[in-house]
Amino acid sequence: MKLDAPVFATVPARRVLEAIRLAGGEARFVGGCVRDAIMRRKFTDYDLATTLKPEAVMAACEAAGCKVIPTGIKHGTVTVVADHQVFEVTTLRRDVTTDGRWAEVEYTDDWQQDAARRDFTMNALFCDMHGNVTDFFTGLEDIKNGIVRFVGVPELRLKEDVLRILRFFRFHAHYGHGAPDTAGLEACKALVSLLPTLSTERVRVELLKLLNAPDPLPTWRLMAEIGVFNALNLPLTNIARLEQVVAHEKTLGLSEPLRRLWASIEGEFADIGTRLRLSNTDAQRITALMHLPVVPADEKAQLRLAYKLSAQTVMDALIVSGGATRQNLEQLERWQRPQLPLNGADLVKLGMSQSPAMGEVLEKVEAWWIEQNFTPDHAACVAQAKRLLA
Ligand code: ATP
Ligand code: MG
Repeated sequence: MKLDAPVFATVPARRVLEAIRLAGGEARFVGGCVRDAIMRRKFTDYDLATTLKPEAVMAACEAAGCKVIPTGIKHGTVTVVADHQVFEVTTLRRDVTTDGRWAEVEYTDDWQQDAARRDFTMNALFCDMHGNVTDFFTGLEDIKNGIVRFVGVPELRLKEDVLRILRFFRFHAHYGHGAPDTAGLEACKALVSLLPTLSTERVRVELLKLLNAPDPLPTWRLMAEIGVFNALNLPLTNIARLEQVVAHEKTLGLSEPLRRLWASIEGEFADIGTRLRLSNTDAQRITALMHLPVVPADEKAQLRLAYKLSAQTVMDALIVSGGATRQNLEQLERWQRPQLPLNGADLVKLGMSQSPAMGEVLEKVEAWWIEQNFTPDHAACVAQAKRLLA
């Protein structure tokens, strides 16, 4: 198989690959960028695999004028920046076992061994700068048929790294056609009880990436059925609401993982923020989603509500209820929360002193100003304050 050469034959790529070649090594693109290039999907990360050891990669790329960062040098990964383009360069590795436990990785110059330690056949493809693809397993065929297939024996690969259960479903949601690979699914089913050993961070990242798929529903339903959420002790099985939200988003051309995560919550689950270690912003967004208002159809009334809650909450409420239009959402997105053109200093000039009464006057003027759709200016607000004080 040969890819359109220009995908990888860029100026910065040439610089890195040529530097490695001059140092006596070879580098090829690998993983997500190769998979996505074959499927003609957009990608942002460039991963390279190389026969050169990390220290030699650093020396060679530095000599070629690239910026080099020893990001994960212990695991063989070096970040190389050439003409502002970032490459993650990892030395070929093979997994070694000791006493039946996965201990270390070892460098190798065998491309196939490196492919064999990767999770899925579609993630184990290499591609050189000219677009020549190396496929040691059945990656190309599996991409064509939409099958996420483990490299090797699924049960063994899952026991090495349980995260692969979630990756299996994530990649199926994004790249799979129809039902998932039977052997892979059976292995995941048999080993769901190992899921609680995963860190919260890794679970969160995988679930949100999965929910970002155009239609995560069939996969999510399957995960619920085989007990993934049960094992993780996360009540994310509200399939009906998730289905509704995804359907509404689709008609608007949207895909919002956080809103979908909220939609999947069954019953009360107020501590999802702590349980999934969401950022404060994300946790607040979920809390707002748990208390969505009924949004009036009138657009001016929507902005008044947006001022009190937030434009995001109003947009969420519209989308979730199925009442959103693109135009309506764009207006809310563009909207900048106005600031009341009156403050304490203005009231002092009117003879008031700092007191709780001052706050009350400000609040009353603000309520009036909101009712007037934020149109009264400074002078009008001062006049209104005067009227109130009289
Ligand atoms: P994405 O588009 O999500 O970045 P990706 O395929 O690049 O997809 P990464 O998580 O960035 O995925 O990993 C890069 C590559 O490293 C994968 O394509 C795969 O070959 C390998 N890999 C990553 N995680 C694992 C894992 N847990 N087990 C085995 N191989 C893995
Ligand atoms: Mg990647």
